[in-house]
Amino acid sequence: VARKRFGQNFLVDQGIIGAIVSAINPARTDSVVEIGPGLGAITVPLLERVDRLHVVEIDRDLIARLKKQHPAERLSIHEGDALAFDFASIGSDLRLVGNLPYNISTPLLFHLASYGRQVRDMHFMLQKEVVERMVAEPGNADYGRLSVMLQYSFWLEWLIDVPPESFDPAPKVDSAVVRLIPKAPELLNARDPVRFSSLVQAAFAQRRKMLRNNLKGILDDAGFAALGIAPTLRPEDLEVGDYVRIANYLSK
Ligand code: SAM
Repeated sequence: VARKRFGQNFLVDQGIIGAIVSAINPARTDSVVEIGPGLGAITVPLLERVDRLHVVEIDRDLIARLKKQHPAERLSIHEGDALAFDFASIGSDLRLVGNLPYNISTPLLFHLASYGRQVRDMHFMLQKEVVERMVAEPGNADYGRLSVMLQYSFWLEWLIDVPPESFDPAPKVDSAVVRLIPKAPELLNARDPVRFSSLVQAAFAQRRKMLRNNLKGILDDAGFAALGIAPTLRPEDLEVGDYVRIANYLSK
């Protein structure tokens, strides 16, 4: 029986499962890590393609099932919360995949943004509405903190639309599969990533307010003038690069 608190909606649509595995197209020796294997909808076809698969799962009953079904040399099971999991402990050049529990998807994406150097790519099933926010451009109503932070760290590609009927139980919302590829370190030009992240959070604290209000005590009028950014703009008017410029100005 699916557990609501663990965001369990199991994939049952073989066409979608096949499309996800084809999108990943793993080589036998790739280091693939699945987050939330559940009953194994993606796990089993992935195991046919790779020599060894890592999974991170929080539900002990599902872990017991997986252990019974698959030999430990082929399937490495990491029991625990993906939000607290140290992905670097598995290795590098990782390929992450998951039909993510919707209740933790946003914090998990922020958590994973710090593993750019260990990760080759990620393929995630998310709420379509979350993917819309991830890929939104400045000026769009969906453009916000998630867009800025993820577009700073990753190249994003919307891959597959997935209707509710593809899952059991069917969620109330549409889903989509998205690919995230970490940007090369030389493109990550915020001098102080922590300051960049807290600046973006402050800027979007109240998205209808002007930047002058949201950044009160952080950036004064002289700072706005030096950067050539009007303090009367709203947070959604600035591009990712503008936020980097402000953060770097503050880190000087
Ligand atoms: N991959 C399976 C599928 O596609 O049918 C299951 C997907 S289901 C949407 C989400 C899975 O993530 C469940 O197996 C759930 O137990 C697991 N999960 C939920 N919260 C988790 C967490 N914090 N860390 C790791 N796994 C979690």
